[in-house]
Amino acid sequence: MTTKLGPSKPCPCTSGKSYGDCCRPLHRNEREAKTAEALMRSRYVAFALGEVAYLMKTHVPDDGRRLTEIELREACRARFLGLQVLEAHETGEVATVRFHARVFSGGSDRSFEETSEFRRIDGAWRYTGQRD
Ligand SMILES: [Zn+2]
Repeated sequence: MTTKLGPSKPCPCTSGKSYGDCCRPLHRNEREAKTAEALMRSRYVAFALGEVAYLMKTHVPDDGRRLTEIELREACRARFLGLQVLEAHETGEVATVRFHARVFSGGSDRSFEETSEFRRIDGAWRYTGQRD
């Protein structure tokens, strides 16, 4: 279920900017994320708002571990209560971002930390998966 968030509302990625000045232009395909961290933040917000098409577009390659559209829709039903970026490293075309996400689902706290890996492909940052 897609929740429409007004552009003047605070962005759920907790950047301190409005949604319209932060992740919304990415979700609307008006521009690409300038950094891997910006892409990570926009993907978190896409989960929070049910922007499934954006989640699929920004996760490549499809190596069989990527969530299906149905699984993504299910994941988006959780409540996304906050994001904290702990570390971000960018080296040329590869980047990692470690973050803590506050997530509440099915009556329990499913908050987690993850190190996500990103690659710049044809000039655009894309999520390539979780790094263990
Ligand atoms: Zn944002």
